[in-house]
Amino acid sequence: MKTFSTIKALREALSTVRNAGNTIGFVPTMGALHEGHLDLMRRALKENDCLVVSIFVNPIQFNNKEDLEKYPRVLEADSKMLESIGCQYLFAPDANEIYPEPDKSEYDFGLLSEVMEAAFRPGHFNGVAIVVRKLFEIVEPETAYFGEKDFQQLAVIKQLVKMLEMPVKIIPCSIVRETDGLAMSSRNVRLTSHERQLAPNIYMTLQKAIKLRNVLSPEELRRWTREQLEAIPEFNIDYVEIAEDQQLQPFQHWNDASGAILFVALFLGKVRLIDNVRIF
Ligand code: AMP
Repeated sequence: MKTFSTIKALREALSTVRNAGNTIGFVPTMGALHEGHLDLMRRALKENDCLVVSIFVNPIQFNNKEDLEKYPRVLEADSKMLESIGCQYLFAPDANEIYPEPDKSEYDFGLLSEVMEAAFRPGHFNGVAIVVRKLFEIVEPETAYFGEKDFQQLAVIKQLVKMLEMPVKIIPCSIVRETDGLAMSSRNVRLTSHERQLAPNIYMTLQKAIKLRNVLSPEELRRWTREQLEAIPEFNIDYVEIAEDQQLQPFQHWNDASGAILFVALFLGKVRLIDNVRIF
């Protein structure tokens, strides 16, 4: 695997790859890699001649200073994992390389900017959009892979690519979970052992909620899910929402649109966890 920290060197290497007629699959990450990330990468390797992974803890997408400071950074271990799956190119720039000066771009994602993560983490998706646009312009991949764990982020990226008419295909990938159901996340290592034991209750509750879809209305199911989660005092809920799967607008009646997703975001101690399941 070749590792690059500058845009110029990576661009040179990738132009050789491209000129030889090879396709590039891209997986942007913030590092502290786990099986969830590797799943995206294995798929990218299968579907492309060459895999480029970026590891960059993007400061402008954090709206919480402590979350940014405490975000795990383990580049050496990450490099080993990437080597082991056969990744060819790692791009691990520092913040000055990506932002030699502040990027003041502002994106309007319409209805997507009004709900859930956008409402609870002001500026978050604008920061995500800025870095993803920059990375796409640097890597110029044919395809890029994103996890449904961050369902709203995936919807935002799809809209960004459409708005800017970027020639990249976005591939959604299913959530990868621990054996006890907890959605894998780089932040999970920050849970205390007590919190780690409580965390699987999120997915357990979501699974029970799926079974109630034929007996409760969306509003009743939202309330039921919130009550189940609130019964665990360590859970501090940001939101429980049931929304359609395109613009992620709240559902009132099950037959309002084709797909319905149940979303949860909560704090467990100092760690913010998100998860979602498809209801219909
Ligand atoms: P991150 O490093 O958290 O920014 O994540 C990088 C990419 O991996 C994003 O597209 C995430 O949605 C995806 N990802 C993170 N955790 C998981 C997971 N448990 N299952 C599937 N994809 C994931």
